[in-house]
Amino acid sequence: MKEVKIEKCPFCGGEEMLEVHVCSYGGVTINLIGKLRSVPIFATVCRDCGSMIRTYCKNPENLFPKKQRKEQD
Ligand SMILES: [Zn+2]
Repeated sequence: MKEVKIEKCPFCGGEEMLEVHVCSYGGVTINLIGKLRSVPIFATVCRDCGSMIRTYCKNPENLFPKKQRKEQD
């Protein structure tokens, strides 16, 4: 997984970021041949204005491993 570096909040210019776990029953889900798989969502939040600048999954590879992607081609 590539690393994304956010230095400034695009909304207020704040420079302090918090990495948070988005608490919900959500997460993202993928349906592979009838098998549901999901991973939790995390977010980068600006400490000054509270904007969620980026929401992301920490281990997208768990959702759809490369090996399986090849098999589906
Ligand atoms: Zn901000």
